[in-house]
Amino acid sequence: MRKIAILGSTGSIGTQTLDVVREQGDIQVTALSAGGNIALLEKQIREFKPSLVAVWSEEKAAELRVKVADCQVEVVSGMDGLLAVATQEGPEILVTAIVGMLGIRPTIAAMEAGKHIALANKETLVTAGHIIMPLAKKMGVSILPVDSEHSAIFQCLNGEKDNKIDKILLTASGGPFRGKKREELLNIQVEDALKHPNWSMGRKITIDSATLVNKGLEVMEAKWLFGTELDCIQVVVHPQSVIHSMVQFDDGAVMAQLGTPDMRLPIQYALYYPMRRPLSGKRLDFYQMKHLTFEEPDLDTFTGLKLAFAAMRQGGNIPTAFNAANERAVAKFLERKIRFLEIPEIIGASMENCKFVEAPTVDQILETEKAAYEFIESRW
Ligand code: NDP
Repeated sequence: MRKIAILGSTGSIGTQTLDVVREQGDIQVTALSAGGNIALLEKQIREFKPSLVAVWSEEKAAELRVKVADCQVEVVSGMDGLLAVATQEGPEILVTAIVGMLGIRPTIAAMEAGKHIALANKETLVTAGHIIMPLAKKMGVSILPVDSEHSAIFQCLNGEKDNKIDKILLTASGGPFRGKKREELLNIQVEDALKHPNWSMGRKITIDSATLVNKGLEVMEAKWLFGTELDCIQVVVHPQSVIHSMVQFDDGAVMAQLGTPDMRLPIQYALYYPMRRPLSGKRLDFYQMKHLTFEEPDLDTFTGLKLAFAAMRQGGNIPTAFNAANERAVAKFLERKIRFLEIPEIIGASMENCKFVEAPTVDQILETEKAAYEFIESRW
């Protein structure tokens, strides 16, 4: 029986991973973790019977220990808890469905313990891709993409090991504000930005989709995962979200992966790779599909995407400054403390303010994150 551990089991990706586990019936979940949602974590413990769970705060962990005193589960907390889940003996795959740079250390620890990573936590690759990718090679472990676009590219590359990628065509829905100009985005409210046209996701990534910052993070993620030059990655706005991404080869052939927007598919593909398993759910109906359309992204309106290319081009710790600034800016927007268009403004200013480090260590990445947070607090 395949064994897995999940970081961030109570979130959007985490719960959908457990949906896959429930439907397939032949995966054992040995460890789970959450930030503070112990009510859901308790339900997950009772259903999936992991032997280890981590909760971020010790206070909540203590509360959970009382609630699950009748279960055979160890409850740990803090970063040590996340590391314990990541390195637990037994599971061969760690699903990184945790949000934010908190995922870096546990992901590295899991790889050092010889585990494959089903990677949803894109922040890890964005900020520490230069550490993660060589480490994967050294340890002989796989980074299995969970992000739907990267899974699509991964699927398009099956059997193409020796063939050169000419271009990665990363599709983007364009989010709820596709087609709008800057002046129309001046008074965007949180509720408007949380209405994604095609995908149901966590709050932070939904805002990132509205600013196109998510696509920028995905560009960086793709560069690391597939080892391509930045200039070989083209973002294509495709509002129907039917094509999840494409790869163009040297001979001009373009391979695409299509499907209904359902995150369970890439999650399941990562868990069973290279096998495909039956999966319930809607199928594409090509008789009903009237048209598939494509556009160039509007970089003058969605400057977050332009900044992402700039951050990746500068390299070093600048993508960390980009990511940290975005995390803080999105949190402030969700708290209604800043306006929608201030998100890319804050990112740009934080990149400029960042003290450049060419090949940052994990400590330097985390210092860059802290410095970006302090800079933002002092200005906004
Ligand atoms: P959610 O916000 O829905 O879930 C985040 C998870 O992380 C929750 O389990 C949460 O626990 C946990 N968490 C938050 N803070 C902490 C903390 N301090 N310590 C420990 N655990 C914590 O996020 P998503 O599932 O949407 O996204 C997760 C990752 O996957 C992100 O990196 C995102 O970019 C990526 N991703 C998401 C996609 C999606 O469709 N949602 C698609 C592709 C990638 P709690 O519930 O207790 O707060």
